[in-house]
Amino acid sequence: MNECYDLIIVGTSFAGSFFLLRYLERAPPQARVLVLERGRVDSKVWQLQHRAPSSIPGEQVYVNRTPLKLWLTSPGFGGNSNCWWAGAMRMMPNDFKLKSRYGVGADWPLEYTDLEQHYGTVEQVMLVSGPADVPMPRSRPFPLPPHRFSTPDVLLKARFPDSWFHPTTARASVATGKRGVCCASGICELCPIDAKFTIQNGLAHIYEDPRVTLRLESPVDSVDISAGVATGVNYIRSGRGERANGDLVALAASALFNPHIMLRSGIHHRLLGRRLHDQMEVDVCVDLHGVRAYDGSTVITGNGYMFYDGEHRRDHSACMVETWNSPFTYQPAALRADRGRWNERQYLRFIFDDLPREDNTVTVSASDPRLAETTFNGYSDYARRAAERIPQMVDKLALALPIERIEGIELASSSGHIQGTVVMGDDPTSSVVDRHLVHHQIRNLLVLGAGAFPTATPILPTLTLSALSLWAADHQLGQGVGGGAVGKRAR
Ligand SMILES: Cc1cc2nc3c(=O)[nH]c(=O)nc-3n(C[C@H](O)[C@H](O)[C@H](O)COP(=O)(O)OP(=O)(O)OC[C@H]3O[C@@H](n4cnc5c(N)ncnc54)[C@H](O)[C@@H]3O)c2cc1C
Repeated sequence: MNECYDLIIVGTSFAGSFFLLRYLERAPPQARVLVLERGRVDSKVWQLQHRAPSSIPGEQVYVNRTPLKLWLTSPGFGGNSNCWWAGAMRMMPNDFKLKSRYGVGADWPLEYTDLEQHYGTVEQVMLVSGPADVPMPRSRPFPLPPHRFSTPDVLLKARFPDSWFHPTTARASVATGKRGVCCASGICELCPIDAKFTIQNGLAHIYEDPRVTLRLESPVDSVDISAGVATGVNYIRSGRGERANGDLVALAASALFNPHIMLRSGIHHRLLGRRLHDQMEVDVCVDLHGVRAYDGSTVITGNGYMFYDGEHRRDHSACMVETWNSPFTYQPAALRADRGRWNERQYLRFIFDDLPREDNTVTVSASDPRLAETTFNGYSDYARRAAERIPQMVDKLALALPIERIEGIELASSSGHIQGTVVMGDDPTSSVVDRHLVHHQIRNLLVLGAGAFPTATPILPTLTLSALSLWAADHQLGQGVGGGAVGKRAR
């Protein structure tokens, strides 16, 4: 007989865990939740011993038709929380209104104010560190104090006080009980002292709740749909096909695998699997005269917003600048060969938003339908036009920094972020899910994560996608499907 649950969640990373966290706060004692996870629990000790965030290589679970463009994935309990670098910033209010404000891209179907409280909750759970002054409006202070600037950051802050800030990050700035202080070694995929927030060190306890059944090594193939209603999921366990019935199904398998599961379930939409995108990131190495870098307290010590918001967004992308503080990240080029001047060098990362292109896709592999397949045909001209301005941007930063020369400029092969593919919106003809991440037609199917993002912004996606999971859970808890999804079966 098939098992029956009030809620089935697919995936145990940020999107699934923040949804589950909020759900359990309100669910009755008899509620039953099934969580299905493709991978295993790869402990911190295992990760360090094997120098890998996951015992299942990401390349095993999808086919990349354009290998120069990487999409990084760590299958396992906690997903990419194991390998992320824990930059945790909020989007800017105008990022939600690109179309109406600047006439390009699309508006999000919600606003900054809709997410403000949820941002604060996620920051509290992740113990985010940050300064008193940031460009985004806030209703509460950061849980942890800011990291220490490097010397170049001090100079940039002095010259650009209104647009240079400490980073907001879930790399701990003070010891937190479970997490140590960031060691700034730049080995953040592994985080040797467990300073960054991960699902394992911050939210594993919700999976021990007696209402939750966590099933590892259980990849989900498809969702069963009958008469426009999701009735359950099909998954593999110990090599055999299994099925579980659920009143509410929440896919939280990322922008790579949510559309893959949906397409395998016979769900179709013109945009499903399209608009795969990330930020366009360009690394610029500059040599400094008489100023020593690498003396801040975490791997990225500053964020610049001087090229971010403004009328230029009508023509080209917004840009956020990062100052990198670890010589180990870019070995060996991070250090100068000049005697006594090894650290008179600064790596800058310029992060541009991209306008998602419909020809960048996730599909089902024809040769092996169990695998997702990605195709990336390039960034938008909008982003490329902005990147052409890097020399002028460096000139502006040179008003603060004694820049001798640009040592190198390199396009990063991956930002590590995976967005688009299950876009949200108010209009079912131009979006797959609604503003609460509910499928427009299948009203008990939620699709969580950055797949819903209508546009990229220079802001890294995870704080926002986690806040969106709380927002989506609140909607379910408040209104429910068929009169209240929480504990429907339990009643
Ligand atoms: C190297 C790197 C650095 C990064 N740094 C940052 C950063 O500093 N800041 C930031 O904001 N973002 C960063 N990111 C991005 C961040 O990791 C992602 O935005 C985030 O992890 C997405 O969360 P998610 O829950 O949607 O998906 P994921 O973290 O991808 O998790 C998906 C989960 O679903 C499971 N799963 C997948 N398919 C199936 C299936 N068929 N059946 C069952 N389970 C399945 C996976 O095993 C996993 O547990 C980084 C990413 C990388 C790779």
